[in-house]
Parts: sequence; C-alpha cells; structure tokens
Amino acid sequence: MNELLQNLIKLQSLEFGESKEKNADATIAELRGKVPPQIITHYDRLVARGKKGVAAVRNQVCTGCHMRVPIGVVTTLMHDTDIQICESCGRYLYLSDTPQTTAPVVTKPKPARKARQAKNSLQLVSTPEPVVPLAMDKSGQDKMRPGLRSAFN
Ligand SMILES: [Zn+2]
Repeated sequence: MNELLQNLIKLQSLEFGESKEKNADATIAELRGKVPPQIITHYDRLVARGKKGVAAVRNQVCTGCHMRVPIGVVTTLMHDTDIQICESCGRYLYLSDTPQTTAPVVTKPKPARKARQAKNSLQLVSTPEPVVPLAMDKSGQDKMRPGLRSAFN
C-alpha cells in the first residue's frame, strides 16, 4: 500500500485511540511530519467535523459514508498509483484487507429465475430430514406403478 496512506491510517488509529503505543504522541508527531501538509490539512478538517479522515473501501463501497466508489478510484487504489478521496464524504480511501474488491457487489435486481433457485436451495438446506423418506416413497411408488398401470389397462 501507498506509504502515505499507511501513515494516514496509522495516524488515525493512534489519534482515535484504536491502537495503543507507548510513545503515541511522538509517533503521531512523526507521522504528521511525513504526510504532506495539504493532505494533513484536509484530514484535520474531516476530523474537526467529527469524522474520520481515512476510510476503507470494501466491496467497492466507502465504509465511511456507504456510498459506492467509482471503479476507476478502486482501480487506482489497487494499482497504488495515487491517493484517492471519496466523492461523497471526502475521506481518503484505502482498500481494506478483505480480498475481492474487484468484483462489483452492487445490488442489481436479479432475474426472477435466480431468485427462485436460491429459494429452493434454501428450502432444501433447511429441511434435510424428509429427503430419505421421500426417496423411499419414490422407490415404493415406482414398484407400485407398473402394477397399477396393468390393473387399469
Ligand atoms: Zn465516503
């Protein structure tokens, strides 16, 4: 990951008390010295509003404001070519450690067929018990049928 982003994330976790260090103040000062002033200014502006300055992108969604992040931004983050800001909340973005951020998990309306399949599979999972007796019934029916048919014919 971008060193600048790493510094920002570490700075944030220290300032928000998410990670404890013996010399937190010294580390914070050191980190602030490493981050370019204009970035620290923007970060501080967000923090002053009670926001976190850095937010993870998970499944192409900004975890700060839960808005979708353009794929171009995600690609830039993946390639580590530049730092990116969320268009909606202005936070600095970084890719979270959870993999598969490439697959866009946008809740598109699914075709009816798929929905039905999902329902059926759920039912099968939730009611596993009748499977065995059903199979026995079926084999029983199969044995009965020829006899029944011949009786009717
Ligand atoms: Zn955001």
